[in-house]
Amino acid sequence: MTEVPSDLEVPSFYTNKCYYPWQDMIWQKLFTGNIQNDHLPHAILLNGVAGIGKKDFAFYLAKGILCQSPVENPKNQQLEPCHSCRSCQLFSVANHPDAYHLTVPEDKKVIPVDSVRKLIQWSVLNSHLGGKKVIIIEPAEAMNQNAANSLLKTLEEPVADTIIIMLANNKQALLATIRSRCQAIDMVLPDRAMGLNWLEKQASAVSIDKEQVGLMLSLANGAPLSALSFLHNTQLDIRQFIIKQLLSIHSEGIDPVQVADELTKCSKLKSNSKSKILSMTAYDIIYWTDALVIDIVRLSQNQSQNMINNVDYFSILQTLSKDLSLKKLLQLSLLTQKAYYEIQGSININLLFEQLFIDWKNCRI
Ligand SMILES: [Zn+2]
Repeated sequence: MTEVPSDLEVPSFYTNKCYYPWQDMIWQKLFTGNIQNDHLPHAILLNGVAGIGKKDFAFYLAKGILCQSPVENPKNQQLEPCHSCRSCQLFSVANHPDAYHLTVPEDKKVIPVDSVRKLIQWSVLNSHLGGKKVIIIEPAEAMNQNAANSLLKTLEEPVADTIIIMLANNKQALLATIRSRCQAIDMVLPDRAMGLNWLEKQASAVSIDKEQVGLMLSLANGAPLSALSFLHNTQLDIRQFIIKQLLSIHSEGIDPVQVADELTKCSKLKSNSKSKILSMTAYDIIYWTDALVIDIVRLSQNQSQNMINNVDYFSILQTLSKDLSLKKLLQLSLLTQKAYYEIQGSININLLFEQLFIDWKNCRI
C-alpha cells in the first residue's frame, strides 16, 4: 500500500484488533475454517447494508490472510492475525506491500477503469513477503461499466495466491457476471439485543442514557456503526432540522419550494463553515426524508410504535398517517430510493428536492 506520511493518522480499519460480535459465524466460515487448509475463495463479495462493519471486517480478514502465523483466540477458538509478525506490523501502519485498497479517488464519484488497470498490473507482480496478496475493492458498486468489465478478466483467470475481497451495500447493482465469479457472503444486521449491547459499551464513555442509545440504533435501522457515528457528529441535529422543515410544509403551509431552497443551501455548505446553519449532505437530506416517509407508511399500515424508527416523533407521525395518502407516500418512497442513486450523478439537487417536497405536500388527502 502507498506509504503513509508519519503525520497522517492511519485509518482505524487498518489498526482494528478484532471483528464485531455479529460477524463471528462469518469469520468462522471464511477464515478459521479455511486458512490452514488454504481453501480461501479467490474472490469474496461481502454484501450488506451500510453501517454494519463490512469494511472493518474486510481489512481484518486481509490482515489475517497476510499474517505469517495466525493464532487461536482462547475465548472462542477462532484463528486470528497475530498482530506481531512483520506482515501484521506493516498492515497496521497501512504500508503492506502485498495489500491493495481500491476505492473511489477523492476527486471522482466512481472507480474509473484506469484505477482497475493499475490494480491489474499490480496483481501480476510477485508477493513481496512471499505469502498471499490481497486486494480490497470498496464499494464495488462504484466501479463504472468499463472498470467492472476490466476486472472481470482478472476474476475469470485468477492470479495464483491473490485474493480479491469486494464490498457492496447492494450486490444487485453489480454485473451478474461479477457476482457469479465471487463467493458472495451476505452480512446481516445483528439482532437488536446484540446491537444494543455493543452500542451501550461504545457509548459508556459519553454521558448518554440507554433510551438515547436505543433511539440511535432505531434511527440507524439497526446498523450499529451508523448508530455509533450519530454519537460523534451532528447527525441528530441534522435529522431534527430536516424533520422540522418537512413538517412545516404540512403544519404551517410553508411552500415546499422554499424548503427545497433552504435545504439545498445547507447541503452546499462546507463542514468547516463558520456559518451557524447546519451543514449536511444531500444524502443526509434524502436519508431523513426517506426515514420519515417510511415511518408514516408503517403507521398507515397500522404497525405499532415499536416498528418505527423516529420513535420520538410518534404522536406527530401517527396524526400525519391519518391525513396523508398511503398510495402517494409509497410513490414518494420510491422516489427517495431513486434519489440515492441520482445524487451520485450530476443531477440538479435543488430540482430534485423541489420534486420530493412538492410530492410530500401532495400526499395530503
Ligand atoms: Zn501476524
